[in-house]
Amino acid sequence: MVNSLFISSTHFWNAGLVRDLFEEADADWILNCCSPSGSIEDKQIWTPASKGTFSLKSTYKLLSSPVSQTVFPIPAEDWKKLWAMPLQDRLKLLLWKIAWNALPCKINTCWSASPTEQELSCSLCHNAPETLEHLFFGCQIACMAWMESPSSLNFQDLPSCNIGEWIHLILHAGPLLHLPLREHPHFILFAAILFDSL
Ligand SMILES: [Zn+2]
Repeated sequence: MVNSLFISSTHFWNAGLVRDLFEEADADWILNCCSPSGSIEDKQIWTPASKGTFSLKSTYKLLSSPVSQTVFPIPAEDWKKLWAMPLQDRLKLLLWKIAWNALPCKINTCWSASPTEQELSCSLCHNAPETLEHLFFGCQIACMAWMESPSSLNFQDLPSCNIGEWIHLILHAGPLLHLPLREHPHFILFAAILFDSL
């Protein structure tokens, strides 16, 4: 829980603990965030249920609603393809989280109402806002890695996509990126390890 990072019974960050647990840049970023002024305790909430409590009924309702059908980031067949990939479950889960834009890049975790350019800039190149699209496909560091991959891909030549479209592209790299079918498993493994490393 976040409140374990505060000095006990206060709303002040425990700077020593934060610096012990996080990289320097992340610790600086956390310590610059405003801490909440209220005294409400942290609690876990399942937002699809009105009472905040997880239930199968609310999950079924969420998944079968027309709204949820339209917000899935990649087509249903891509999920089946992803889970059938010859990858470690940990890497499949990573790809799943990326498709949902659910990794803690700076744009996704910024709490400030008016963040500075520096607070949002990419941790690797500092030249652009740190979105997942940038971090994995637009950043010059990522692009160098893709160019050095066995498939020598230049993603900077491709039109910009949202992160779900990028994952769709990775999952269908055979036809969409004109990779020979036999190279596809190696390509997916390379992509997953690159994402994990960045
Ligand atoms: Zn970058």
